[in-house]
Amino acid sequence: MMPGYLDYLPLVTLGALTGCIAFKLVFGLVTGGCLGPVKFCPECGFEGQGKIVLRGSLRLEILLWLLGIFPGIAYSVWRVSATERVCSRCYHRVLLPVDSLPAQDARRAREQRIRRETQGG
Ligand SMILES: [Zn+2]
Repeated sequence: MMPGYLDYLPLVTLGALTGCIAFKLVFGLVTGGCLGPVKFCPECGFEGQGKIVLRGSLRLEILLWLLGIFPGIAYSVWRVSATERVCSRCYHRVLLPVDSLPAQDARRAREQRIRRETQGG
């Protein structure tokens, strides 16, 4: 009996997936480290590149991999494809481009609020 290519499919899939995750992580580290656009966090006023995080949980991912290769692959692919940039300080999910109008409005509103609070009221 000839070994069909299906015998190698899990291995090939796993290899491709590992490559994909490694690429995403390295890319994320590079762009998150020095090449990402500067963002403004309306929640805490942080300005910077933010942080790239994976969605979901690693524990659930490991559990799904233990249950079987296909749920594991599905979840891993979703996690990797759903990376998002969050605030490095407060992990707020909505970051605005630093020069955009909403960011300027949010910054002004924040500064006014802080001024009110520090002047006592
Ligand atoms: Zn923040």
